[in-house]
Amino acid sequence: MRTKLIVGNWKMNGSRAANAALLEGIVAGLDDARAEAAVCVPAPYLQQCQDALAGTPVAWGAQDVSMHACGAYTGEICASMLAEFDCRYVIVGHSERRAYHREDSDLVARKAQAVLAEGMTPIVCVGETLAQREAGETMQVVGGQLGAVLELLAPEQVARIVVAYEPVWAIGTGRNATPDVAQDVHAGLRAQLAARNADAAPGVRILYGGSMKPENARELLARPDIDGGLIGGAALKAQDFLAIIHAA
Ligand code: PEP
Repeated sequence: MRTKLIVGNWKMNGSRAANAALLEGIVAGLDDARAEAAVCVPAPYLQQCQDALAGTPVAWGAQDVSMHACGAYTGEICASMLAEFDCRYVIVGHSERRAYHREDSDLVARKAQAVLAEGMTPIVCVGETLAQREAGETMQVVGGQLGAVLELLAPEQVARIVVAYEPVWAIGTGRNATPDVAQDVHAGLRAQLAARNADAAPGVRILYGGSMKPENARELLARPDIDGGLIGGAALKAQDFLAIIHAA
């Protein structure tokens, strides 16, 4: 049985004052939520998250990492630094990084490996563009993105990743994938995980991301292979984020 996981991706948003109110609101509203919750925040706010969330049920993490260990890589942040803030999760391969920073799947795979090496959990994002979907290439694209990661990991490491299916056309557009469309892709991704490690695949959480909000969360999260959500816009308001956590 997979526990649902709801992760907020704050992207490049926040301020110390706004974060304090948001984190306080999330913790206060959790009540008896059965889903796991986490926030992935800009690196300068990791200390603030650690201070505010340690001892609460909400985990925290980062949105990117260097594939390198410490050294002469100006501007980069390595996995061991993130681990010092007790990050549980690190997003790798978000479509915004693939698009704006030209990250390819091999780099994403190395980042996932760096995260695992420091005892944290990579949230490996995959997703197709609208043109790719319309050309019938969805499974080929997301399969290639996930395949690059699976190829680099040892089979036993498969159990330690989280996958996020985030169709690019659904991110920040208000247009979510239908539950049927998402479920089909999630089932395909799980089959791919199973081909690498049949014992681990049923336990790997596959999140859906792309305009998930309180109004559509329940229906998406009811599908058998949708194990949670990676939430952008709706993670910036405590009330909306909590509604999704409670739907899960
Ligand atoms: C995201 O950026 O990971 C995301 C899912 O964004 P949104 O929920 O705003 O579509």
